[in-house]
Amino acid sequence: MALGKGWWSTEVDDTNVHTHPDDDLIEHDLDGNCVCLPEVEAIERGDGEIVFLTHHHSIDGREAQEVKHGVG
Ligand SMILES: [Zn+2]
Repeated sequence: MALGKGWWSTEVDDTNVHTHPDDDLIEHDLDGNCVCLPEVEAIERGDGEIVFLTHHHSIDGREAQEVKHGVG
């Protein structure tokens, strides 16, 4: 049942993108105050604008079954 769950990537606005688990045990807050203590990463786009990527952590621990993959 825990297998096969995915991740969503939600664009909150032009410079804020959240990556968060689909159908997790909690509901993830996309306003920057999520209880999962997400990691924020600032990356520069091709046009020089800074985009903040917020990586949420799953509560059900699904990361342990995944191989890390790059962004973009
Ligand atoms: Zn979260």
